[in-house]
Amino acid sequence: MEERLLETERLANIGRGVAHVVHEIKNPLIAIAGLTKRVLKSLPPEDPNAFKMRLVLQEIERLLTMLEDIRDFTKPTRLNKRKEDINLVVEESVLLLQSELGPAGINLVLELDQELPPIPYDFDRIKQVLINLIENAIEAMPEGGKLIIKTYRDGAWVVIVVEDTGKGIPPEELEKVFDPFFTTKARGTGLGLPISKRIVEDHGGTLEIHSRPGQGTRCILRLPIPLEERKEAGLAVAG
Ligand code: ADP
Ligand code: MG
Repeated sequence: MEERLLETERLANIGRGVAHVVHEIKNPLIAIAGLTKRVLKSLPPEDPNAFKMRLVLQEIERLLTMLEDIRDFTKPTRLNKRKEDINLVVEESVLLLQSELGPAGINLVLELDQELPPIPYDFDRIKQVLINLIENAIEAMPEGGKLIIKTYRDGAWVVIVVEDTGKGIPPEELEKVFDPFFTTKARGTGLGLPISKRIVEDHGGTLEIHSRPGQGTRCILRLPIPLEERKEAGLAVAG
């Protein structure tokens, strides 16, 4: 018991330290981004230096995303739950990434169950999870394919499925996808899935990944329907 407390305290300290370092690195990066934008504005768009400045900005964006991933991963999540239809967060996440699908040759198949009972969840955190899963799916289909997103109820759970017809994950890698910093991408952080799993488990839910190399990957996210919501929605309370 005491050991566990010490461990929790140790992790909290690491989290605070990381948050501090992330903050110290972010500030100068944001300043660099601001200056770069000003230089960019002063150049004619066709200037070769404008092209380079845009690359600089893209790289800064990437570093900022990585820093935020690292911070999110080490900081304990405090959920801000509200009772809402889960389809809302699915629709918003899809909307945010929709413009990437067409150019990548990806067809979206959206099957949302309109009869789902509303459940308490943290909109921004679940959105973060869905964006992670959808981005992974897009990255797994460089030659295009199908992105299937479904919601449905399964007993006491609301289920969200994010499925792709991409390259899939070999069994020896599948074991590691939730390990922090495990990535097979040249520009990955390997933090998307561990952060996502943490957020889902903090909701009392589960995140599973099934995959067949060469065929595709299916991510199954389950969130619990609290007893009161099941009663209210007139659903069976057992199970
Ligand atoms: P990152 O995307 O930064 O690599 P993630 O934690 O999101 O980190 O994913 C870890 C690894 O899991 C990826 O590098 C990839 O090898 C594998 N992976 C995750 N999702 C998929 C998917 N939909 N299709 C194929 N591989 C995937
Ligand atoms: Mg990822």
